[in-house]
Amino acid sequence: MITLQGKSVYRDICAGRLAFYGGRREIPRRMVEDPEEEFRRYEKAVREAKVQLALLYEESVKTVGEANAAVFQAQGLLLEDEEYRESVRRMIAGQRVNVEYAVHVTGENIARMLQSVEDAYIRERAGDIRDITARLLEILGGPERGRELPEGPLILMAEDLLPSQAARLAGGNVLGIALRRGSTHSHVAILARSMGMPALMKLGEGLGGEHDGKWAVIDGYSGVLYIEPDPRTLEAMEEKKRESDRRKVQLREMKGKETVTRDGKSIRLYANVGTMEDVEAACANDAGGIGLLRSEVMYLGSRARPDEETQFRFYRQVLERMGDRDVIIRTFDIGADKKVPWLRQEPEENPALGLRGVRLGLEHPELLKTQLRALYRAGTCGKLRILYPMVTSAEELRRLRRIEEQAKEELRREGIAHAEKVPVGIMVETPAAAVLGDMLAKEADFFSVGTNDLTQYTLALDRQNEKLECFDDPARQAVLRLIGMAAESAHRAGIRIGICGEMAADPAFTETFLRMGIDELSVSPGMILELRRKIRES
Ligand code: PEP
Ligand code: MG
Repeated sequence: MITLQGKSVYRDICAGRLAFYGGRREIPRRMVEDPEEEFRRYEKAVREAKVQLALLYEESVKTVGEANAAVFQAQGLLLEDEEYRESVRRMIAGQRVNVEYAVHVTGENIARMLQSVEDAYIRERAGDIRDITARLLEILGGPERGRELPEGPLILMAEDLLPSQAARLAGGNVLGIALRRGSTHSHVAILARSMGMPALMKLGEGLGGEHDGKWAVIDGYSGVLYIEPDPRTLEAMEEKKRESDRRKVQLREMKGKETVTRDGKSIRLYANVGTMEDVEAACANDAGGIGLLRSEVMYLGSRARPDEETQFRFYRQVLERMGDRDVIIRTFDIGADKKVPWLRQEPEENPALGLRGVRLGLEHPELLKTQLRALYRAGTCGKLRILYPMVTSAEELRRLRRIEEQAKEELRREGIAHAEKVPVGIMVETPAAAVLGDMLAKEADFFSVGTNDLTQYTLALDRQNEKLECFDDPARQAVLRLIGMAAESAHRAGIRIGICGEMAADPAFTETFLRMGIDELSVSPGMILELRRKIRES
């Protein structure tokens, strides 16, 4: 038995035969007589690729939603990239080589260059360049883009998967994905999660082609891939799978039940989401509303700044799907570890203490105004609430409200339909916001506690540094005291307070939060039913 440790993106167990995907043949280099004719073949292939991507986009919208399918739209734009086209043209004209070779070399060069960039999001675009390159080569009659898959339950094994391959291959008899590289932020990871498919990233060099055809098990709870598991491991995995299924069935009984404590206090149990697929998962798990829509997810996934119309359509879709349930949309929390390639941010000595959240919005008011216009327009389609991240003072909130007023004023002048009044809240995720809770509660319509950042800033523990985990005060006394202060301030001012950080889902804190009178808990969709059970027992 071989045991490989990776990073899991979905918690479940699956077993199947490993099927190696994506072996490519060498691309031969040939001299051509007529470079112009050769370049025309390139332009024809680009046109065909665009048609294919447009079709793929339409199909994927139906299966994985607009936000995830957008990757194929973006790949269509990449096909128009001047740098790519020029490189192919120069190679064909200068070296008189065949178009397949020029495309292959160009694609690899650009992908390698992107991979060497420090920014993780830009690095991941290398996968898209390889994807369009493979597509062009296929159209040009080059190597196959993989192979037909065998029958029976399979775990797809590859160096990395291109987004279009994942969309095409997943489902059917593919039950899991095991990648040598891959990233938990990648589109493949997002697709796997939205399809509820165990997938492991970063399994490393041990995942070689020699394992093709061998029986394997993915443990998506611990992130381990067992190749040719011994009978004891197999038995343990079968038991874990049964337990996993049992828990899912038991939890289903919680659907449709009210979220009330034993003494009859009703709690709002909401979901944290980033994409339309998460919203679907929230509905499937019976969420009472959306407690945190991390709007930056859309920004992080785009190669260009998302325009007002794109944002408006997304927010409207979420609001319409949720009907009369609350939808709390947080304005973009970009900065610190969440950088976007299209916004030049100066390097910072301490990014977590730098320009992030509303600070970035106040630095780039036009960016925030575009989002607020989209939000106020969508506000007519459901029960929208707007949430500001990283607020530290009432003055900051006033500045934000002035930008809101400008956005509404513009919409009014342009005669564009929009909501006049949308409740506006702040994230309590800096100690300053908790300490100044009484002042902020006079100006905000609600509070939502971000315990992930509140812990980081209160205990001075960088949330990205796994070495600090042992310093995390297990009972988080200081953080709890700040939450208690914020709750008191909120209730004295007659406004609601919720918790949307990871602590909200931790049953060890549920009773403390209920005692504090917390009105709302917002957790990832998969945790809702479990937490409902805990609340009903409390
Ligand atoms: C938090 O800080 O607790 C939070 C919910 O926001 P994020 O994790 O997106 O920073
Ligand atoms: Mg936060």
